[in-house]
Amino acid sequence: MSSRGTLYTVSAPSGAGKTSLVKALIEADSQINVSVSHTTRTQRPGETNGVNYHFVSKEAFLSLVEQGGFLESAEVFGNLYGTAQSWVEDTLNSGVDVILEIDWQGADQIRAKMPDTVSIFILPPSREALESRLTGRGQDGADIIQRRMEQAINEMTHYIEADYVVVNDDFGIALHDLQAIIRAQRLTLDNQQARHSLLLEQLLS
Ligand code: 5GP
Repeated sequence: MSSRGTLYTVSAPSGAGKTSLVKALIEADSQINVSVSHTTRTQRPGETNGVNYHFVSKEAFLSLVEQGGFLESAEVFGNLYGTAQSWVEDTLNSGVDVILEIDWQGADQIRAKMPDTVSIFILPPSREALESRLTGRGQDGADIIQRRMEQAINEMTHYIEADYVVVNDDFGIALHDLQAIIRAQRLTLDNQQARHSLLLEQLLS
């Protein structure tokens, strides 16, 4: 009876607040879930295996690629990242929406494979805000910060490929913007026809 869930990609430069926004979105809505990606990058302090990422070796990652286990995969800043196909398919088939927090390369691959995907891009409110977020606690050198800025700008050039753009100035407003996108998507003709087929049959007979 339940219609298939919608797939969303959320992309952003690091420092735009993407992960915190997606976390708040998931916590407030039981009908949407976020995919936990596989990565070959080293686990950072505070991260939990299986929660933030599935941390795997390069060999294990490449073997999953060979088995066709990924819906998309890409190299980002020298590490490999990928989205497990089976979890995404199973979740969508159970009627729950899925968010993929992925870079522009992954969003591109998903768009080509699954044209019904809704893509969202999150931007920081200003260059200064981005810079101060990327500077962190002042423990990194100017060259590292400069490199992070260049990577962030490169990611942001791909905002143009998205269906929706959210500017994360005020966290609460940005969260409401994301919720509005998801709510509107649930009300499209196709989704409402699938969800309310019995009602429509009854109303129109
Ligand atoms: P971080 O290692 O800082 O968590 O993420 C680095 C970048 O990799 C971010 O832009 C993030 O969106 C992206 N990323 C995380 N998981 C995936 C994934 O499964 N696929 C792709 N293509 N990018 C990912």
